[in-house]
Amino acid sequence: MAKNSFRTLTLSRDEEDRLYEAWKEFESKAPAYARFQLRPENCVITCYESGKTLFQGSDADVYASPFMNNETLNEKTESVSSVTKGNSRKIILPQAGSDEVGTGDYFGPVCVCAAIVTADDIALLEKLGIRDSKQINDETIRKAAPQLMKQLIHSLLIVDNARYNRVHETANLNKIKAMLHNQAYLNLGKITALPDFRIIDQFEPEISYYRHLRSQPDVVRGIHFETKAEDKYPSVGAASVIARYAFLTYMDALEKQYGMHFAKGGGKQADQSGIEFISKYGEEKLGEVAKLHFANTQKILKAR
Ligand code: MG
Repeated sequence: MAKNSFRTLTLSRDEEDRLYEAWKEFESKAPAYARFQLRPENCVITCYESGKTLFQGSDADVYASPFMNNETLNEKTESVSSVTKGNSRKIILPQAGSDEVGTGDYFGPVCVCAAIVTADDIALLEKLGIRDSKQINDETIRKAAPQLMKQLIHSLLIVDNARYNRVHETANLNKIKAMLHNQAYLNLGKITALPDFRIIDQFEPEISYYRHLRSQPDVVRGIHFETKAEDKYPSVGAASVIARYAFLTYMDALEKQYGMHFAKGGGKQADQSGIEFISKYGEEKLGEVAKLHFANTQKILKAR
């Protein structure tokens, strides 16, 4: 997606050190007047003693974006307009955000959603009070999410337990998350052009995220990673509400199918549901409803 073949940024010493730490495995001999030079994929990064850092190559913006402030982003993305919210914080629009739900729940799927929010959507989001799905009760989510899904361009991935357990044999949870977020953005990009400003509610450092995607043929780059992003970026908040809605709806269906209640989360109540489940359906069926690598599985099988 990078349009520029080079970008120059003035970084603080601290930022220069962070940049070095992130890509030091690609260090090459520094030219004159440079502190260091790094050559990761599709980019040459040269940090000069003058305080300027030059990013060159087709992915220049990908590597520079974590160090670009909102003004830089604004000037880069002509289509961007900004809206001032009640709390007088500036929001860059349009924006795409993504979040996942269900990774802490023993029972049920993992749901990942990526959603686009434009200036036209802000009024609805504010009316619905969209923010982190963990801070909104399930009843509100059930009402708000269908309206969001109707209005916002989004892509939603639901990984059922059988598939999750299969994938988990070769990939850890963060790798699964990285692959799902990437796929959600790829799918979104098939529906419409992705906004230049993209945010993931950070679950691991940026460098690990891209490392997990190394073997993937298509990787969406230029993503901004931030923790607690659901509350700061409306696109992430909306994505989290849609993902939570998908999770709740899936759990409703699962409970109907098996004629029992499945406790959410990964605590003692989930153990109780598990014990009830295997007494009714047998332990060999547990992988159809639960994430088997959770410690709950051992507790449930022991309690049998
Ligand atoms: Mg999250």
